[in-house]
Amino acid sequence: MKLEKVVVASGNEGKIAEIKAIFGGVQIISMAELGFTGDIEETGSTFKENAKIKAETIAKLYNMPALSDDSGLCVEALGGAPGIYSARFSGEGPAANRKLLLNRMAHTTDRRAYFESAVCLCFPDGKTYFGEGRTHGKILQEEIGENGFGYDCLFYSNDLKKSFGVADDDEKNSVSHRYRALQDLIKKLKL
Ligand code: IMP
Repeated sequence: MKLEKVVVASGNEGKIAEIKAIFGGVQIISMAELGFTGDIEETGSTFKENAKIKAETIAKLYNMPALSDDSGLCVEALGGAPGIYSARFSGEGPAANRKLLLNRMAHTTDRRAYFESAVCLCFPDGKTYFGEGRTHGKILQEEIGENGFGYDCLFYSNDLKKSFGVADDDEKNSVSHRYRALQDLIKKLKL
């Protein structure tokens, strides 16, 4: 399949930068560049459903292929929370989300967690392709590093053997859930 230009159905700068770095060879534009400032309501109950809602909305609105990522942090001891609610965990933004997570984990010795990503590429005719990926690690006792976004500085990556908060972009992008989901998608697209 030939894919030249894709709009990323996300307002999250951290995600957009990672998708640009990973999805080489394809021109990536953001919704903001097309003038979209609205919010797309994520009413699905899975990462995949939410990814589809976002990509479909933007593909139809701008009549061009749209790529979305819906992702989050799933903590074993919290039964998979915050999961699809990762961005809205505290209702007060990323720093408050991390604080709430540390509070919830205060007396927990099982720190196992994984990031999950579902990506969806949707064409204006409604055709959709999906990719899924996970990356495993542990929730740190305190924030380490300032790189990345969201929960990165609380996530010790089993692959990198360090916090995503101290990993550089290339390191994170070589093992991340988003990288793995995009590789899965690329394989299905036979790009
Ligand atoms: P979404 O925009 O609804 O998919 O929300 C994704 C949320 O999950 C982000 O706002 C972060 O809180 C979290 N998240 C997803 N991927 C990452 C990552 O790579 N690093 C850190 N946090 C992430």
